Amino acid sequence: MEYIAISLPEIMEHREKRTMRTAELIRKHQSTVVCMSMNFIGEYKVLKHSRLIFNMFCEKVLRSTQVRFHEVEYSTFGDYAHFVCEENPEAVKAKMCKLEESCEVGRLFDIDVYYGMENDSPAKISREGLRKCLICDKPAIECSRSRAHGIEAVRSHSIDIMKRHLATLISECAYDSLISEVETTPKPGLVDKNNNGSHTDMNINSFYASSLAIKPFYYDMALETFKSFDNNLSIFELMLRLQAIGRAAETAMMSATNGINTQLGAIYTIGLLSCGVVMSLEHSQCFDAIPNYAQSLVLSVKVGDIPSFGARFEAENAFPNILATTRRIQILNNEHNFNNSCVFALLEIMLLIDDTNVLRRGGESGLIFVREQAKRILEFNYSNEMLKAVLDFDNEMIRRNLSPGGCADILAAAIFMLNIKQRIFEYGYTQK
Ligand SMILES: [Zn+2]
Repeated sequence: MEYIAISLPEIMEHREKRTMRTAELIRKHQSTVVCMSMNFIGEYKVLKHSRLIFNMFCEKVLRSTQVRFHEVEYSTFGDYAHFVCEENPEAVKAKMCKLEESCEVGRLFDIDVYYGMENDSPAKISREGLRKCLICDKPAIECSRSRAHGIEAVRSHSIDIMKRHLATLISECAYDSLISEVETTPKPGLVDKNNNGSHTDMNINSFYASSLAIKPFYYDMALETFKSFDNNLSIFELMLRLQAIGRAAETAMMSATNGINTQLGAIYTIGLLSCGVVMSLEHSQCFDAIPNYAQSLVLSVKVGDIPSFGARFEAENAFPNILATTRRIQILNNEHNFNNSCVFALLEIMLLIDDTNVLRRGGESGLIFVREQAKRILEFNYSNEMLKAVLDFDNEMIRRNLSPGGCADILAAAIFMLNIKQRIFEYGYTQK
């Protein structure tokens, strides 16, 4: 989308139009009215990523209070939304202040609450206390009056706040997917809520600890990818920086688990996909573009035609099994709860791929056994019988000391993609 500079008269005219609409809604509904806009100083009122963040906050308002009616106006003069609320104005104001303060990006919003008219203008409920400046800790009004920081500095600071918000969301999607994966129960041979699978050196707490330890590194990878756009880094240069962050994540994982490799595959795969998310956002592309961007990172450091396996194979081929699994979980989830959808999807992956962990522990015959069992159980056609059969399968996998860790990594990454879709891309990234 094009970012268009707006003149001061245009800004004033737009503001007037917005106020008139607020007044209309107050007169019509005789109720509390919220007007939410983003607060960017200078001549650009829509910035990169701002519409996505704006849509996310509309959703937050809708969830925080009972809304009778709402409408959104997208415009190069600044996006704004009106909400007609059922609750009394003081209660709504308190909730809106809380929203503004709930995260750093809330500081970019003006969420004004009105009730009734005063001298022919909407009567605004004032907030308690002053808002702080984006850059320093002084009251915002002081810095804006004295133009303390310069328009360019405030604008780039605002964009950085939005990038940090998106990087935070990405790391939360990653963390939640790791937790969802390990909590999916029953999983044959793998650590779950029932048992440690075929593992004697780790349990579900090791996964909780390592998921928490590696979460900040997904944030770092996402932010590094944002920075690479500011600094015009090549994909190869970016990938070198990401590899360094990946190694730091591995060290943190090892120290959280006393030296046990719980989630190395997830650092790699979900890390790459996290960066693919940022690349897709920066290029104003949709969800479907993520795998190809993530693939481009891996291909930038690929040396010759060395055959690769497992996670690397998946990445070099733009994550075919992960994407297929994402779609399968979504479809299964229409008829089954989320846990069971993941259990069933996991069996389908076991049927599909050559799991390197199974091969390492059980050789070719181990792999054949896993496939045959998965195939047999899938013939129960997603009935309750199927879950019972998975419990027996789990016991047999433990007896044979087999663990499909590669399949678990695919499941975690598939859940990650689902989280990203629901929490970021469904807010309509493509800016008008
Ligand atoms: Zn300041």
